[in-house]
Amino acid sequence: MRFTEDRIRSKRLRDLPVYLFEDLAAKRRQKEAEGVDVIDLSIGDPDLGAPAGVVEALTRHAADKRLHCYTPHWVVETFNRGVSGWMAERFGVDLDPATEILPVIGTKEGIAHLPLAVLDPGDMALVPDPGYPVYSRGVWFAGGRVEWMALRAETGFLPDLESLDDRDLRLVYLNYPNNPTSAVAEIDFYEGIVDRARKADAIIASDAAYSETTFDGYKSRSLLEAPGARELGIEFHSFSKTFGMAGWRVGFAAGNEKIISALGTLKSNVDSGVFGAVLLAAAEGLQNEWPAVAETEKEYGLRRSLIRECLETCGLEYHRSPATLYIWAKVPGGERSVEFATTILEEAGVLVAPGVGFGERGEGYFRMSITCPTGRIKTATERLQEVSKRWMT
Ligand SMILES: *Cc1c(COP(=O)(O)O)cnc(C)c1O
Repeated sequence: MRFTEDRIRSKRLRDLPVYLFEDLAAKRRQKEAEGVDVIDLSIGDPDLGAPAGVVEALTRHAADKRLHCYTPHWVVETFNRGVSGWMAERFGVDLDPATEILPVIGTKEGIAHLPLAVLDPGDMALVPDPGYPVYSRGVWFAGGRVEWMALRAETGFLPDLESLDDRDLRLVYLNYPNNPTSAVAEIDFYEGIVDRARKADAIIASDAAYSETTFDGYKSRSLLEAPGARELGIEFHSFSKTFGMAGWRVGFAAGNEKIISALGTLKSNVDSGVFGAVLLAAAEGLQNEWPAVAETEKEYGLRRSLIRECLETCGLEYHRSPATLYIWAKVPGGERSVEFATTILEEAGVLVAPGVGFGERGEGYFRMSITCPTGRIKTATERLQEVSKRWMT
């Protein structure tokens, strides 16, 4: 047998859209080979690390041999109770820890697996464009049909509920505070979409990975606060961005009991849960580490101001938002986002994410991330100002 690519790779992998950043990644390697010190502002990977109390809890629990087995049930119960307490305190939402909360191996895992648990082949899912790529991948892998839901600047990057096509709709993905646009949603938006989904008999999956990554005192809202949301919705929360724990792989799904149960059944057939010591350390974070989160937010806030000021000096427009690790800015002069990113890389040695990489409607924008040491961000802004003369004239 000859192992050609086609012979090995399933049709579902072969059918995935080509990775738009590949060219850019190659150019980056080429630049680095030439000795250019490239500053990467293209990805959102928290660099400030987990709070000391969480690390200490992990170390302590890691020594407990009872946790070296498949995750004991009492550990999941402890974690779920902690989550339930936090959700009540933070959003005023009362959830049953036994039936309405489920740990996930990072929200990416839960988001990607959800369609396998709730969709049949051919079922339709609405997915934000631009958006986090995992929603569409999950739907395609489950044989579902993706309909793109446009996020436009005119409507604050919220989907226009009036224009949504809800025939045969089974599942809607939402993500606020939003990656990549940084937009936020208020409670009236969640009320509107719950109303809409109820009429269509559809499920809402809200990705709240950035719910606590906010600035200037802003408090994001939860889908589950909207009346009726718990009858048809679940929300994914992550420790990755909030606590700087992306490598730890832990998050949770919360909300409707039947959806949680379906996802739980699917997961029990493909994984065996999160390491108990990680669950207990994460619960410790939820309970005690908010002062540490506030400290990281100060640092992020400083970086954010540096980038915003730079964009203003460079005459570039960006979406003003109180949340996320990103700044979503407009490509100047009607240039294509990949071309703009390539030029910036070549002339300034700064890598930004071209908007089109997040979907067709991301064209015309680029995304800058603040998960890079403050000194490096400063250097990046100086370099950008230097090359901004190109489009300022
Ligand atoms: C980073 C990110 C996640 C992933 O979170 P994990 O919990 O690390 O899997 C989910 N959704 C969005 C929109 C993200 O940007």
